[in-house]
Amino acid sequence: MLRTRENRSAALILGLMLLIAASSAFADNPPAATVKDLNEQTVMALAWMQNAAEYRELCYQAYNLAQMIVDKAIATKKVGDKPLAVIADVDETLFDNSAYDAGFIGKDEGYSGKTWTQWEIAAQALAMPGATDFLNSIAKKGVEVFYVTNRDQAGFEGTIKNMKTLGFPFADSKHLLVSTGVSDKQPRFDLVSKDYSVAVYMGDNAGDLPIGSYHKNQKDRNALVDQNKDKFGTQFVVLPNPDYGDWEGALADGYFGLTPQGRSEARKAPLRTWSAVAGQ
Ligand SMILES: [Mg+2]
Repeated sequence: MLRTRENRSAALILGLMLLIAASSAFADNPPAATVKDLNEQTVMALAWMQNAAEYRELCYQAYNLAQMIVDKAIATKKVGDKPLAVIADVDETLFDNSAYDAGFIGKDEGYSGKTWTQWEIAAQALAMPGATDFLNSIAKKGVEVFYVTNRDQAGFEGTIKNMKTLGFPFADSKHLLVSTGVSDKQPRFDLVSKDYSVAVYMGDNAGDLPIGSYHKNQKDRNALVDQNKDKFGTQFVVLPNPDYGDWEGALADGYFGLTPQGRSEARKAPLRTWSAVAGQ
């Protein structure tokens, strides 16, 4: 049937009305955030960690500071003192695992224990800038490194292999203390400090330091850090990790049980904002 000019105009108007109705419905009820959307929110953090000169600067700064603390501990060590040690977390403290998370960008899939174990077994983490030199420098001075990580037994062999590939010292079962079902690191810290004088604790997560932050909410975590402020740069050395960490889970109660939409809202809700007044 030949469509008349009038028919075409009516169809056009109807189409326009439907489009307006749809866009207004979209504004009122935007589609719920997906895991893919959450992954998209990590792009800037990962781009920074993988590319920014400033990220490298912070890594070097952290290892140089740790080296100075260790050197001071060596210089002031007395006969009869316990041997010196460093306790360091592994992931994003010495290992760069950013390729694992970057691999989820554009996909509707995020971290899982299954794929993380595959990543550990693949043993393809890179050393963070300066990590290998720092570890070997203190090893040469007779200071042992204990790697206290919440990687678990399933990834143990892969982690040892990865450490050896990267040239890390003390890549053995005495020094790599993985999680055995307890992710609070304090019992493993206690185990090491029974026999060693720990010169410095290093980590990218408050839980990597003996300040009692395990399973604490955001307010308490920040308060604990404030209470220990004199130890940062003297006993504790922290590496930057804007991609993930216990800080994320502390954004809201039960954060990791929330839907992607809930997590997206929890990420945005605490932001302090400012807007210029229009027209001024
Ligand atoms: Mg870590």
